[in-house]
Amino acid sequence: MQADEPELDVAIIGSGFSGIGMAIALLKQGWTQFAVLERAASLGGTWRDNHYPGCACDIPSILYSYSFEQSPRWSRMYPQQPEILSYLHHCAEKYGVNPYFRFGHGVRAMRWDEAQAFWRIETDQGEITARAVVSGMGALSQPSIPAIPGQERFAGPAFHSAHWDHGADLAEKTLAVIGTGASSIQFVPELAKIARRVLVFQRTPPWILPKADRPLGPRETKIYAALPMVQHAHREALFWLNESRALGFIVDPKIMVRAQRLALRFLERAVPDAALRAKLTPNYIMGCKRILISNEYYPAMMAPHVELITEGIAEIGRDEIVTQAGRRVAADAIIYGTGFQTVEPLSCDVIGRFGRSLRAEWQARGAEAHLGLSSEGFPNLFFLMGPNTGLGHNSMVAMIEAQIGYTMQALALMRAKGLASLEVRADAQQQSNARLQARITKTVWQTGCRSWYVREDGRNATLWPGFVFQYQNRVRALDPADFHLARQAGGQA
Ligand code: NAP
Repeated sequence: MQADEPELDVAIIGSGFSGIGMAIALLKQGWTQFAVLERAASLGGTWRDNHYPGCACDIPSILYSYSFEQSPRWSRMYPQQPEILSYLHHCAEKYGVNPYFRFGHGVRAMRWDEAQAFWRIETDQGEITARAVVSGMGALSQPSIPAIPGQERFAGPAFHSAHWDHGADLAEKTLAVIGTGASSIQFVPELAKIARRVLVFQRTPPWILPKADRPLGPRETKIYAALPMVQHAHREALFWLNESRALGFIVDPKIMVRAQRLALRFLERAVPDAALRAKLTPNYIMGCKRILISNEYYPAMMAPHVELITEGIAEIGRDEIVTQAGRRVAADAIIYGTGFQTVEPLSCDVIGRFGRSLRAEWQARGAEAHLGLSSEGFPNLFFLMGPNTGLGHNSMVAMIEAQIGYTMQALALMRAKGLASLEVRADAQQQSNARLQARITKTVWQTGCRSWYVREDGRNATLWPGFVFQYQNRVRALDPADFHLARQAGGQA
């Protein structure tokens, strides 16, 4: 049978750090038959969607940016959401990828066409065919709102932190916040500035360390602009400092004891009230859940109009929350800082060879891919920020860039050899994952706390149990022997 040509060589899904970086890499290497499919009306991924008050990154600006596009003009050590979003717009503009975005193209499903050896992608705007697909969907793009009895009865504004309703009138109101994770500890201090009362419903107290944040002055900007090697050296220093933090995560959780002491001293200084301090003191090893950094959260919790409630929530009424201890607290608005769905990291159905559903497989046994990048049974498909490539200690942008480099090698191999498909071998995937899962059992994440890193069956399908430099080494050179290469559907190259 004569094979049809797909519309695109490469379809990228999502326009966050992953999608934009991938588009830039393709263009740099002369690929032009590609598109970035984006469900929203503008680029930015998580930094477009999360615009809650106080939204910021907990990785320093010069590290949380592409290695090839260092800006000397960051306004702070730790970037805030508007500045990161405008950095992403700047990169898309500067590297000429804007014409490749197709906004309003949410991907509903995609199916591997075995006969044609390409992907049929069902989008909000109809079908698109592509030889290869690069998923930049992001690991934390689908908000999770727990089902609480009666929540549909609540009459006031109720929204998730990733869908912040800036139109809701929150000033001088009683605001209930559910959850005390990375997002909540950033917006609770902001709410405390405007609300009459803030009720913070905590299930598990997070470990919190001070944030070494400060404005970057004109002097630093001038030095960075005039001497990029100084900025480069600073970036390297920050990278290796963060790498050293992984020791307690992946080598020996006992190493965390020192950092725990620091955090407890920080808590003690910030919260003199012993009863409140007890409620804010974590009872699990630091690092088991994501370590948070904030200078504002504890002072906000000390404010007289902010209350920390540790009783579970039994139900929600029209204008109140009822705790499991039977206490009824009035609330004008509810804000869910309850995180994201990580058990089901795919936001669309992916049907590979022989009708296999990636979503169903990942739900059943946990997400898995060779080096987090490709899964057997699903040819010509690459994941950025895929399974077991998340970090708790360093910049995800470094991981994304390493993954883009590997994906570019795969695409270059396909082009050089005239391949129709490239599919990771089952044994390569099994071996790399067996090693990874063996290593992960010794990490701090498996020490018994409840976190979104670990599934209910105990499998950790989210984090990379190593240093970033180890991952970079691992994906530096793609080994063609790890793949089945086919010149045309069915035939091995
Ligand atoms: P999160 O850290 O997962 O926190 C969710 C919070 O909601 C936790 O306190 C959790 O309690 C609570 N919760 C969940 N379900 C609940 C329920 N049924 N009842 C009561 N409480 C419930 O979510 P997030 O704050 O949105 O952050 C998610 C991730 O986004 C972070 O881990 C981080 O990777 C990323 N993030 C990063 C930054 C950054 O600066 N780089 C900023 C924001 C977010 P338990 O702890 O008991 O589960």
